[in-house]
Amino acid sequence: MSKNICSVCGEEFEDKYFDKEDKKCVLHCDKSNSNKEILFWEYFNSYIKKENNKDLIEIKDIEFPVINNRDKEYIKLWLDNAILEKYVHFIRCRFQDEFNLTNTTFENEIVFSECNFYGDITFDNCNFKNKVAIEKCTFNKKNFNIKNECNFFDKFIFMVNKGTLTLNFELLYFHKNFISIFGNKDIDFNCEFQSCFFYPDSFFEMTANNINKLKFSDIHNYTKDFSFDNNIIKEELSIYNTDFKNIKLINLNLSECKINIESVSFLNSIFIGINWGNLFNDKFSKSNSNREFFREIKYLYDNTGNIIEANNFYALEMKEREKELTKDLKEGKNFFEWLVFKVHGISSNHSQDWLLALFWILSLSFGFGFIDFINKYLDTKLEYILIDTFIYLIFICLSILIVQTKKINNFWLICLFYLIYGFITKDFTLFKISNHINPFSVMDSWDNISFSELMYKITIAYLIYQLIISIRQNTRRK
Ligand SMILES: [Zn+2]
Repeated sequence: MSKNICSVCGEEFEDKYFDKEDKKCVLHCDKSNSNKEILFWEYFNSYIKKENNKDLIEIKDIEFPVINNRDKEYIKLWLDNAILEKYVHFIRCRFQDEFNLTNTTFENEIVFSECNFYGDITFDNCNFKNKVAIEKCTFNKKNFNIKNECNFFDKFIFMVNKGTLTLNFELLYFHKNFISIFGNKDIDFNCEFQSCFFYPDSFFEMTANNINKLKFSDIHNYTKDFSFDNNIIKEELSIYNTDFKNIKLINLNLSECKINIESVSFLNSIFIGINWGNLFNDKFSKSNSNREFFREIKYLYDNTGNIIEANNFYALEMKEREKELTKDLKEGKNFFEWLVFKVHGISSNHSQDWLLALFWILSLSFGFGFIDFINKYLDTKLEYILIDTFIYLIFICLSILIVQTKKINNFWLICLFYLIYGFITKDFTLFKISNHINPFSVMDSWDNISFSELMYKITIAYLIYQLIISIRQNTRRK
């Protein structure tokens, strides 16, 4: 009779602890279609007892079965016996079911390396006195929860994992050493930190990850070293009620994600190489504290000499101010302040968009040129006033509509205006338009200027000023 030698561990086994088909022992064989669970836990306990005289317990290539209620006692037994005092390394193990540990103190390090998890992993109210590492593991659409007052007194490392996962950290205390979430580029994962405390001797780093949704809420950050380096957030970044003073954000790609910020401070933080994507396309959720956030980011960029980003955040801050003023207006307050803001926003996006200012100069000038042409055919003053006002209003309303909806490119609209104007007035060389726009022409024709012409010239002078300021804002150096 052939001997029962396990093809994984090479040991010889009694018949009942051996799967002849699989040629593996009860620890290493596939248990998905068998009812060897009780035998497994029995044998596993004796195995752990045997290993218990070593300082490092290596649990290699073991297939942990689906856990029935009756098996829970066995699990408690092996935990109580062995795992807590020793270094425990799970290597290439497969967990067919969830892995739960509650009220447990780990005196020594616990490492999961190249393991495969088919159920949730939960550490509930545990203390980790030594290193915890989860590296090169594969997750299968499950949750990894560390929650309910867990204390970390040494490193926590989550690195180079794969699969699909949600990582939840809730009510944790990081006392010292580093927390590193590193190199998880091949994993489809969400990550959430809630009510966590990072004490002064700890440091946090999140490096080279691709994350779908990242959320921080109620974080108490007392460490001097909190850094994000080289991460991509794909769907959503949410930060609520958190003190992120003195943190470092370096090479962060936020180009595709939505951002929700509420009651967050980034005072004295460092922002380098952040790809914000399109800041003006509803990137930020509606929040009461957006203006404060934009102002703070503008200040940070200003201090590091990144004038272009600072200007962008200035424009966002102004937009928020405009919203506040619109709200005030509904309550019957601050009409003139609102009007000035509105005009400033529409004409040049608060001195940020020189193309917009140019668009308005051309658009209004075509309007004015057109009226000038029409006026030749008008007789009475009343006709002048009515028709001129009507045409001018159409030009302004159409332009505002275009600017607000951004459905048509401003340039196409200018081309359209040019063609209409050109065909009707035959002034294809724009002789009249150029003379209207020319701000110096006001000087020599001051004597015979009409009121509408005066208004036009003042408007154009304002827009030319905005054009120059906007170009300067986009290119200036400190
Ligand atoms: Zn074996």
